[in-house]
Amino acid sequence: MKLETLAIHGGNIVTDSEKPVIQPITLSTTFIHQPESMIYARANNPNRHSLEKLLAALEKGGDAAAFSSGNAAGVAVFQALEPGSHIIAPDDMYHGLKNAILSIFKGVLEATFVDMTDLDKLENAFRPNTKLVWLETPSNPLLKITDIASVAKLAKEKGVMLACDNTFATPVFQNPIDLGADIVMHSSTKYFGGHSDILGGALITKEADEFWEKVKNVQIGGGAVPSPMDCYYLCRSIKTLPYRVKGHAEHAMVLANFLSHHDAVERVYYPGLKSHEGHMVAANQMTGFGGVLSFLVKGGADAADRVISKLKYFTNATSLGGVESLIERRAASEGPDTLTPQNLIRVSVGLEHLYDLLEDMEDALK
Ligand SMILES: *Cc1c(COP(=O)(O)O)cnc(C)c1O
Repeated sequence: MKLETLAIHGGNIVTDSEKPVIQPITLSTTFIHQPESMIYARANNPNRHSLEKLLAALEKGGDAAAFSSGNAAGVAVFQALEPGSHIIAPDDMYHGLKNAILSIFKGVLEATFVDMTDLDKLENAFRPNTKLVWLETPSNPLLKITDIASVAKLAKEKGVMLACDNTFATPVFQNPIDLGADIVMHSSTKYFGGHSDILGGALITKEADEFWEKVKNVQIGGGAVPSPMDCYYLCRSIKTLPYRVKGHAEHAMVLANFLSHHDAVERVYYPGLKSHEGHMVAANQMTGFGGVLSFLVKGGADAADRVISKLKYFTNATSLGGVESLIERRAASEGPDTLTPQNLIRVSVGLEHLYDLLEDMEDALK
């Protein structure tokens, strides 16, 4: 099946005798004991099973585990590591997960944060107890691009597992497992949900190995699982994922070009631009450049805030991946320790009409 077909048919496991076309929502928390039946909703549920089957297929993995948030998915990987293990992660890792490593796992795991786009720096960061390399590409909010296949090769040589946060790219544009990753992570809250109304996360493994058993144990034992309703709505949203993200990326490309020629703009970060330092690697490993871009406004934080306050169709809110355009001055969301420039605006480009978006942005930059 091609991706668009898989997105529509890959998650249906209708077993009801009435034969509905769409899989119903199963709310029961418990199941009548019989051989082969599901037992209890924390361990499994038909809607979660459908979602996990669909996610594994989309990311070309052997199995998937759905969580109640992207952070819960990421934290499950860290929890499955032996205490004393060392992690190498990007210096601009998603701030919520970086904070989790530094706070929840303080004294339990060691971590080094490096610029992953520099393979020498990555190689120098390995220690005898390194057990995991964590990747995020495109990164948030600078849209830095890391060469997944090269990092995978290095990790393999060192006998270390590679996990990749694929939230920004989605499986429509990038399949980390095909490029050598062992585990893929998603915040389903973003493009999978696609309408800013579901919180969720997912892990997909290349194969159901010994480490994956531990991850599943954290999922079921820790219990940070999504509700049947959330799983149902995610399966519903994913049916349109390929068309939505192609639309987002088309709009982002035009907006990035527009901004890169505007006098009030200092710099634009979008991997689809030839001027972006990761453009060639992105063009090689992705089939589209995604729907998120960032730009620096001339004149600092105040000027950036002024632009945001004038916009009509870009809502000043955090998060990304919904059909509506969202915009924020990122440093304000990331807190005082952030390395993000104070005048950086991150845009999640939505599916409103492109001309409305361009006109709105042009007016706000005046
Ligand atoms: C949002 C996000 C997360 C965290 O996901 P939640 O669903 O908010 O817990 C992790 N990584 C990236 C790249 C994200 O954008």
